[in-house]
Amino acid sequence: MSGFSFNLLKITDPRFRLGKMIFSRNKHEKILDTPNCFVNTIRGSVPHLTPDNLQTIPVDAFGITLEHFLEAQPPSSTYFMGGIHKFLNLEEHLLFFDVRDSEKLQNISFGTDKYVPAVTSHGYRKVTPEEYIRYMNIYNPDIFASMTDLITVKNPGLKRVKKSVDRTLNWLDETLEQTKEGIQVFGVVTGYDKHEERERSAKETANRNVAGFVLNGFDLDMTSKERLDLMKISLKHLPRNKPRVAYSLGAPEYVLLGIFEGIDIFNTSYPSDMTSLGHALTFLLIEDGIQNRREKFINLWDDKYQTDFKPILDECKCYTCQNHKRAYIHHLLKAHEMLATILLMRFVSSCLILNEFYLQP
Ligand SMILES: [Zn+2]
Repeated sequence: MSGFSFNLLKITDPRFRLGKMIFSRNKHEKILDTPNCFVNTIRGSVPHLTPDNLQTIPVDAFGITLEHFLEAQPPSSTYFMGGIHKFLNLEEHLLFFDVRDSEKLQNISFGTDKYVPAVTSHGYRKVTPEEYIRYMNIYNPDIFASMTDLITVKNPGLKRVKKSVDRTLNWLDETLEQTKEGIQVFGVVTGYDKHEERERSAKETANRNVAGFVLNGFDLDMTSKERLDLMKISLKHLPRNKPRVAYSLGAPEYVLLGIFEGIDIFNTSYPSDMTSLGHALTFLLIEDGIQNRREKFINLWDDKYQTDFKPILDECKCYTCQNHKRAYIHHLLKAHEMLATILLMRFVSSCLILNEFYLQP
């Protein structure tokens, strides 16, 4: 037996909501409280974190990208019949798939009606909707986004955007027909920056039997503010009773703004991106937003931290702040020690992004 439900628990403002996504499979239930995030992975692993460290962080769901598995076609992982949760040793977590990595999108040639191009470590690969659906039926993730005709050029014309909306809707129909029971299909709302196409895409996707929505289709060279403004146009036309996932809104202030527009889940690589830069978040959340008194983050590569023997945040209860000083992490970064990024990732993920930020909006 398998099932999926999304329960809205509280709607205070016209748009802001608290909810619960409940997945049941083989009498086993997984619950994801929303607002929440899908932590973006690289080849199914979270950058900078070993599996034992991952267990210490309250992450419930991961975003996984097919293009990271496509060095060979079909991917060797599709010969494993135990499903992707077992293959990645993430059986307790909720797994969400898409074809392309929205957080590290590389500009490549156009797709056609028959395929989308994907980037792999061995060059480009074409992925047809039939292949994608077949792989998903083998992987058996909790959710996947239907295939999207992404536009990766600046200022596309209306004709190109219309074609992208049509293709994405056609692929969604194919996906809904052929996906095996128990895997939830989220329809992708596109339309790039053309308002009328964003509305059409949202309305048409909402008319189909999808389990939820992904807000996508405007991927290169846009600021988070521009993205959020375009998402608002789509959100108006989506039913309230299904979850909405947004791509590429990782920074805390835009996550917060997105939550107040009715976005339930953020697919993000923000924690690992900040960690890769040696940045530690130091902003404070207050009732009506993010307090500006303090810097949003500190760059621990900076030599001024050489003799700074304070924790990253005095008041924080996370492992990193409780046990280590800024000077020590600075020293580890300078020495290119892996422990530096492990401590920073534990810090970024556990003390700010997940615990205090997503779960106590
Ligand atoms: Zn901390």
